[in-house]
Amino acid sequence: MTTHDHYNLIIIGGGPSGMSVAVGAAEAGLKRILLLERHPRLGGILNQCIHLGFGLSYFKEELTGTEYAFRYKKNLEETCTEVITGSFVHKLTPQKQVAFVCPEGEFVIPADHVVLATGCRERTREMLTTPGTRPAGIFTAGLAQEMVNIHGLLPGKNAVIIGSGDIGLIMARRMTLEGARVLAVMEILDHLSGLVRNKIQCLDDFGIPLYLRHEILEILGKNRVEAVRYRDNATGEVKELSCDTLLYSVGLIPERDLLIDAGIEPGNGYYVSGNADYVHDLVDRVTRDGERLGRSLSGS
Ligand SMILES: Cc1cc2nc3c(=O)[nH]c(=O)nc-3n(C[C@H](O)[C@H](O)[C@H](O)COP(=O)(O)OP(=O)(O)OC[C@H]3O[C@@H](n4cnc5c(N)ncnc54)[C@H](O)[C@@H]3O)c2cc1C
Repeated sequence: MTTHDHYNLIIIGGGPSGMSVAVGAAEAGLKRILLLERHPRLGGILNQCIHLGFGLSYFKEELTGTEYAFRYKKNLEETCTEVITGSFVHKLTPQKQVAFVCPEGEFVIPADHVVLATGCRERTREMLTTPGTRPAGIFTAGLAQEMVNIHGLLPGKNAVIIGSGDIGLIMARRMTLEGARVLAVMEILDHLSGLVRNKIQCLDDFGIPLYLRHEILEILGKNRVEAVRYRDNATGEVKELSCDTLLYSVGLIPERDLLIDAGIEPGNGYYVSGNADYVHDLVDRVTRDGERLGRSLSGS
């Protein structure tokens, strides 16, 4: 547990953004840096990304998310940063005090600078207010990714993916490789939301259809999802598709509730970085921006 009662910098979130802010700040000469991460391991969302596609720009090599996190962690270990995993930050004050709980107890520690590197959260069915029943079998794509890649659980056997964001495209391939059938990816827009490379590698290579301008009208099913009713907005035709699982991949929202709840705007010693600032497609950019932010901070 920490020995200081005041830090030059406290970083909330130990994903690629939080780690890179710490590395940049250490380069700038800050000595008392504390990194707080709620999970047992550093790495953030990268820990559940076992697909290739990370690090081409930063490491000049194509890595999986887990490899990227592992490699970057070594940079962090070379700094003086104190890391407390299993620590959940629950409150901030305008005086730059950070309140957190961890296995050792509850602490409130002040800092010169506080960086929010808390990532983002997924939009859910409830946020879209999709009509219908509330059966089992409805997941966000990121939760399904965590189930499959970390817990070894398959969310279902016959899936429809709603929305064409990158997590949904990657999960279409992942579910297929694990033996599920992905019947379709349905997108209300007339264009793909995710990266084109993910459509080619995750849908086209596996023969999974992408239906653009298709809108989910209703979820059907009593205990478990049984079907979705949808409309082809190009023709107006309404149809049903039988399935037992729905994965929502309909956008990410920067996670800034700690600042909002405290009525704090970024500035005056508070900063926001990585996906908590805006949603990044590529982690390399997150890392570079984080290092730059860290280097811009000065100690007192
Ligand atoms: C499915 C998926 C596929 C992707 N594919 C690629 C790809 O192929 N190539 C690529 O370059 N990029 C990819 N990305 C993007 C990249 O992974 C992200 O942009 C990057 O991980 C964001 O980093 P971050 O540190 O801002 O957020 P995160 O990685 O989400 O880290 C935030 C951290 O903050 C912690 N935290 C949150 N709240 C608190 C709190 N109150 N107290 C303590 N800790 C807290 C969380 O536990 C988490 O560890 C992908 C992302 C996803 C989700």
